[in-house]
Amino acid sequence: MTFRRRDAAGFSGKIHSMERALHFIAGEMVPSVSSSFMENIEPATGKPYAETAAGDARDVERAVVAATEAFPAWSGLPAAERSRYLLRMADLIERDLERFARAESVDTGKPITLARKLDIPRAVSNLRFFATAVLHTSSEAHFTDGLAINYTLRQPRGVAGVISPWNLPLYLLTWKVAPALATGNTVVAKPSEVTPMTASLLAGICREAGLPPGVLNIVQGPGDQAGAALVEHPRVPTISFTGGTVTGAGIARTAGPMFKRLALELGGKNPNIIFADADMDTMFGATMRSSFANQGQVCLSGSRILVEAPLLDRFLERFVQQTLRLRSGDPLDETTQHGALVSEAQYRKVRHYLDLARQEGATILCGGERSGDLPDRCRDGYFLQPTVITDLPADSPVNQEEIFGPVVTVMPFTDEAEALHLANNVEYGLSASVWTRDINRAHRLAAGLDVGTVWINCWLVRDLRVPFGGMKKSGVGREGGNEALRFYTEAKNVCLATPALEKTP
Ligand code: NAD
Repeated sequence: MTFRRRDAAGFSGKIHSMERALHFIAGEMVPSVSSSFMENIEPATGKPYAETAAGDARDVERAVVAATEAFPAWSGLPAAERSRYLLRMADLIERDLERFARAESVDTGKPITLARKLDIPRAVSNLRFFATAVLHTSSEAHFTDGLAINYTLRQPRGVAGVISPWNLPLYLLTWKVAPALATGNTVVAKPSEVTPMTASLLAGICREAGLPPGVLNIVQGPGDQAGAALVEHPRVPTISFTGGTVTGAGIARTAGPMFKRLALELGGKNPNIIFADADMDTMFGATMRSSFANQGQVCLSGSRILVEAPLLDRFLERFVQQTLRLRSGDPLDETTQHGALVSEAQYRKVRHYLDLARQEGATILCGGERSGDLPDRCRDGYFLQPTVITDLPADSPVNQEEIFGPVVTVMPFTDEAEALHLANNVEYGLSASVWTRDINRAHRLAAGLDVGTVWINCWLVRDLRVPFGGMKKSGVGREGGNEALRFYTEAKNVCLATPALEKTP
């Protein structure tokens, strides 16, 4: 996506009346040192509706200084006090749920009903989960043959840099911010420049909750500037990144030689494996969501549907019928089920894969075009019909690369071995769904799938305690529960000699 730059006063020198997403540094909402702003486009209209501070290395520097100064006091607080701040933030977001849901819907193009039901409640849960998890931690102790007792201290690591994407903006930002703060780190967060708004609202919540200045700082702006500066900063020893695989590889190249602790949550090309004995009603309900929720812009989307051959025709008939019934429309309309793609760049990227599918002789069973029948306001928005594709070879780029849009492919398989082969035969390894009533088969597949999460007879059922992350090009490291608490802390072994124990008969 390209943004036009403006100075602080706007193109024409007039003071702009547009909403602005500023940085949040040392407890203050501030513009960039450079004074530049970027346009923020509403995906449903294709028109600018707000401006975002275009942060660069100078703003990151200010934020890192603030976070560094806040660290001793914050990390020195009892966990229960840190917990209270986070719980207050959760309560305030919940109080303002409607405001947050609307902002998320306008900024991303997702149906407001989804933001209200999924994105914002999950942000609240993230804060509450980690605020309370840190009250119930324990640590290991090892007794060494009467010579010593070893115990493990888990201490916060300092300033954590967290970088998040545009598909689930507040949901994924808080998924990183909450464990980092709960364990006593201070944070510099870099939300996606495509969707800065709910992070900006979060800054207001921090102030209202009385979070001490500098504990959470938010630097808005382009990834290759603000994001890169955060990754490169020598006083940020921890980087947690969620986003594209290519971006993640670049971040690893910078952070690796600096010996930073790095978590990378990257792209997916997830198989949805459906056997003929599956419970059809439950499977169809979940498959509609895993294919098209958030316009298919979910890293966990089941974008490759693998269907046992005898079921294929029946599956396609019902699936296409249901897909055609999805209501596309203005994301702010309460009845809309399918909104806009997040940006023109994303729209073009998805269309590129549709063109490729056509060139390769695919059958497009439904969709494949701009959504029609939209209200006037949405005439220039980035709407694309939910699309179902068949008749492509497994090694086609359309079946191999992450499209990240409302596009699924369907491929038949003849037996379990072929299903497993097709499922694993991609460079990604984030998640998979398996639909069958044969529980032994389900367990066999779960063990054989090269992915971080396997859902059996369900999709996107999330328990915040479980390890979450990917294999292969889907990432390195795990988030969630204890994995996150460990990621944001340094394990230090303390070996205490116990001569008294030596003398014990
Ligand atoms: P992206 O990689 O373009 O951007 C992600 C974030 O990184 C943004 O904040 C961006 O500004 C920043 N960034 C960009 N270049 C950077 C650089 N050089 N240095 C530091 N930061 C930089 O990804 P996106 O398009 O925003 O998000 C979509 C991708 O995210 C998809 O591939 C999707 O699968 C993935 N994703 C993964 C998960 C997961 O949990 N594995 C969850 C959601 C999304």
